[in-house]
Amino acid sequence: MTLGRVGQVSDCLFCKIVAKEIPAEIVYETGRTLAFRDINPQAPTHALVIPKEHHADAAALAAADDGLADEVLKTAHAVAVQEGVADGGYRVVFNTGAGAGQTVFHVHAHILGGRALTWPPG
Ligand code: C5P
Repeated sequence: MTLGRVGQVSDCLFCKIVAKEIPAEIVYETGRTLAFRDINPQAPTHALVIPKEHHADAAALAAADDGLADEVLKTAHAVAVQEGVADGGYRVVFNTGAGAGQTVFHVHAHILGGRALTWPPG
């Protein structure tokens, strides 16, 4: 991997979204986080929340230990409220590792809502 701007990785898809080098439908932004609609939605509301700083997965984000994980979760809830799914219930998913289905290795929380969500997930 190549380090580019501070905290970003040049060959990372989501770092490119942060840098506005590739388009995304942004729905919410804070100083250190960004939320945008998933291009392949799995529910009526399906957004992704990322830290702008590059961390590969949830474990790396937790290890950063600087309040950034808190900010990602706060943004996740703010997106759920903004999208109108907070009262009906919504799901926050961090696929962590390829074996769990993670395909983009810049940590992201999936925010899913707007339909009945079954358990256990597949
Ligand atoms: O958890 P996982 O790593 O599989 O999730 C990656 C998600 O990123 C997918 O849901 C995919 O649809 C989404 N994606 C996106 N915009 C891109 C590339 C991937 O929303 N440009």
